[in-house]
Amino acid sequence: MDLELRDKVVLITGGAKGIGAAIVLAVLHEGGNPVIVDRDLDAGNKLVAQLRSGGRRCGFVHADLTSAESCSRVVEGVLNEWTSLDALVNNAGVNDRVSLEKGSPDEYVGSLQCNLFHYFNMAHYALPHLKRSKGAILNIASKTAVTGQGGTSGYASAKGAILALTREWAVELLEYGIRVNAIVPAEVMTPLYQQWLSSFPNPEAKLKNIVARIPLEKRMTTPEEIAATAVFLLSSKAAGHITGQHLFVDGGYVHLDRALS
Ligand code: NAP
Repeated sequence: MDLELRDKVVLITGGAKGIGAAIVLAVLHEGGNPVIVDRDLDAGNKLVAQLRSGGRRCGFVHADLTSAESCSRVVEGVLNEWTSLDALVNNAGVNDRVSLEKGSPDEYVGSLQCNLFHYFNMAHYALPHLKRSKGAILNIASKTAVTGQGGTSGYASAKGAILALTREWAVELLEYGIRVNAIVPAEVMTPLYQQWLSSFPNPEAKLKNIVARIPLEKRMTTPEEIAATAVFLLSSKAAGHITGQHLFVDGGYVHLDRALS
């Protein structure tokens, strides 16, 4: 099925690695123009060089999104180069483990800055352009929003707020025909996940333990499976009547009976 994303400009935060990079590739596969925003200069340059050498049209803006000014500059820069914006994928985030017991109030605010505020700021600055294109917003959340994880108050509350904002924006933007949805991943092998795993004394045993609890096929979700859902939700051809939804792409991790494992 043609998702009709051809020539659409899709801004993807955190698009240099992991889930974001998989979404970049999926947008390209559909003939769209992904624009990566990422603070990892090397990874961004490497990915864009590789894609452009294959003749693909894509952009890269090197930026850390933790301030509102930076988000505003990013949107302005993207619009100067591409002249229109058809979709925003809010994806950048870090499970930074700012805990209730060991974290400080300042660290908690810092975690919200890294994981939440730029979702609002990017949507805020992108909105006038999305109104013109009758575009879409996709937010990447996390199962921690609904299951908790322990030891990660900042990240879990940011992801919970992202689910609430998805519904809130879906309502507020109805009048412009802008659809807003969220994907909720659980366990996806990415550079961030590898880093988290390596913080355990025996990462291999930890991974085995996690995978054994994933109901469907006892395996991790792939970044490509998240990306396939992302392009589906971005497509007004395929998902034109879907808005305000939280899609759990997690092999049944959150909703199926834990006794299964
Ligand atoms: P990843 O492998 O670390 O890739 C994310 C990219 O975003 C990295 O290049 C990262 O740069 C960049 N980034 C992070 N914060 C940024 C900021 N403030 N400004 C600009 N760039 C920033 O992460 P991932 O696992 O693909 O995760 C992507 C999203 O999925 C996150 O929102 C995460 O919470 C969510 N998620 C992931 C999983 C999972 O199992 N992997 C599960 C649930 C939810 P640095 O490397 O410099 O940080």
